[in-house]
Amino acid sequence: MTLVNPRSWILDAKKEGFAIGGFNANNFEQLQAIVRAAELENAPVIVQISHRALLYLGNGNEITGLQYFADMAKRAADNADAPIALHLDHGTELEATQAIALGFSSVMFDGEKHSFEENIAISKKIADLAHKMDVCMEAEIGAVPKPDGAALNEADLVLTDPDDALEFVQKTGVDMLAIALGSVHGMQTKENDLDLVRLEEIRSKVDLPLVLHGSSGVTNQAILAAIKMGLSKINIATQLNKAFTLGVRKALEEKNTLVDPRKYLGQGIDAQIEVVRERIRFLGSSGKA
Ligand SMILES: [Zn+2]
Repeated sequence: MTLVNPRSWILDAKKEGFAIGGFNANNFEQLQAIVRAAELENAPVIVQISHRALLYLGNGNEITGLQYFADMAKRAADNADAPIALHLDHGTELEATQAIALGFSSVMFDGEKHSFEENIAISKKIADLAHKMDVCMEAEIGAVPKPDGAALNEADLVLTDPDDALEFVQKTGVDMLAIALGSVHGMQTKENDLDLVRLEEIRSKVDLPLVLHGSSGVTNQAILAAIKMGLSKINIATQLNKAFTLGVRKALEEKNTLVDPRKYLGQGIDAQIEVVRERIRFLGSSGKA
């Protein structure tokens, strides 16, 4: 199959009360793990790559990173026995425009560094371009912090204002909206709650599929409640990194003479497949391909 625009999956998920996983990959092995899990679960999946992963893959050049990942993901989708979407996660304007040209089937513009008005203007421009090319478009209102290992600065947590969300959606025409309800990127333990009262208020004003970032740190109970209320794309990154790394670490610890990357990375892939499958079942998207 070729790469698929995930818009109709997400609209179906919203209607039926389940969610589609947006699974982050940093390298070829993590991409393979996500695709294999999708095949085993007969599930549609969104494979996504973030700005920082692009810099990693492109050795400091995000456009090179986009080219590598577009090629890898297209080949993976062609060979896969499950529908695969390729999404740019937290892209800049330049990255989103390039990703659309390179065949990504979905893009997110992260307007966090811009004013509300600039975020609207750039998001609208990218949404118009995306729709011309049959690409899905996600934007964000509010801020889900990215502490990247440092202590959380509470000032970085800006919960989404329901009126801003309505104005943003009306003025931009985006397909899905990422909102901030109290989750944080990069958390290794699942302890955060979500502001479901705020979600209810946003939902009463905005009838668009909503996206949760930072789900690895949120309790399963809160995620399930939010899915029932219309969060239809759930991003999952840290949980996958953790599983992959624990698999590799176990392989290296079990045999300290191991030098063949295929052997220890292979155990990382196997460990990540299990977590992606578990999350697909948890979100309710198993069997929905
Ligand atoms: Zn995110």
